[in-house]
Amino acid sequence: MANKAYQFRLYPTKEQEELLAKTFGCVRFVYNKMLEERIQMFEKFKDDQESLKHQTFPTPAKYKKEFPWLKEVDSLALANAQLNLQKAFQHFFSGRAGFPKFKNRKAKQSYTTNVVNGNIKLSDGYIKLPKLKWIKLKPHREIPAHHIIKSCTITKTKTGKYYISILTEYEHQPALKEVQTVVGLDFSMSTLYVDSEGKRANYPRFYRKALETLAKEQRKLSRKKKGSNRWHKQRLKVAKLHEKMANQRKDFLHKESHKLAKRYDCVVIEDLNMKGMSQALHFGQGVHDNGWGMFTTFLQYKLAEQGKKLIKIDKWFPSSKTCSCCGRVKESLSLSERTFRCECGFESDRDVNAAINIKHEGMKRLAIV
Ligand SMILES: [Zn+2]
Repeated sequence: MANKAYQFRLYPTKEQEELLAKTFGCVRFVYNKMLEERIQMFEKFKDDQESLKHQTFPTPAKYKKEFPWLKEVDSLALANAQLNLQKAFQHFFSGRAGFPKFKNRKAKQSYTTNVVNGNIKLSDGYIKLPKLKWIKLKPHREIPAHHIIKSCTITKTKTGKYYISILTEYEHQPALKEVQTVVGLDFSMSTLYVDSEGKRANYPRFYRKALETLAKEQRKLSRKKKGSNRWHKQRLKVAKLHEKMANQRKDFLHKESHKLAKRYDCVVIEDLNMKGMSQALHFGQGVHDNGWGMFTTFLQYKLAEQGKKLIKIDKWFPSSKTCSCCGRVKESLSLSERTFRCECGFESDRDVNAAINIKHEGMKRLAIV
């Protein structure tokens, strides 16, 4: 079994928006209540670990008597709040995270609900959700018929848009495709990648423009008095730009990965440790913003869906310094040398040479040289 999530924009009616706001609020309320009770319990039994072990933790059902308005919202959403709190505590006890925090009004507006007895259905551009009934969505992609919906997470963004992420489960056994076409990709800061056929992904110009605009608007924000009317207005503007850019980038990465997964049976990339790399080279934000990590994730599943392969080769493989024609490895190659020249007479764009080497290395792995 494999999982896949599909995201859609939601268009709730006024009444549905009200109920959604209420649900976000109730989920937060229940989460905080349970956290508060747990903290009290820890305090009470802090010198008596044995008794603590035998305490039962609060459940949302308990609060429904005291706060009857909790019954107006999806009870599965409240049950998930309980699960989330449990997870937060597990992470805390295993040392993976700090002590769970209370959620304030600024926390992410979101809740998750599960499929139980056909309570969630998709039909004709609408999705049926517990308590909300049929809610309109933008069906920009189809969920294959053999996918079974497991849960849905509804989120409201800072700019007031609604999204739903539908998690599905499906039997996954595509026939392995015989590898006939292979491409190597060399990571590129400025364009995303250069491939072994000499093509560049070319990050769209509008994205670079938007990055500049965002930086400008952010500077404006930093000059405004925190909490003032103008500051709030500017903050919304920045949040909108952020959202727009993130969406544009995701679209671009989806398109690029789709193109490659359609055209080739096998894609070879270097296994880069982006975090380490950006720190080491002081690229700062750039490398993360470039979206390489998201891109390779998309590529991986788009290839896998068709029984195709993504090969990651060792990041220490000297892809740049090796001559893709004769195999000689240069002792050194400075970053400023944009053209690769070898004693054997071979001359090529530096990135294309690297991409060809990456492709060859991948083919060695596949043993199809
Ligand atoms: Zn050579």
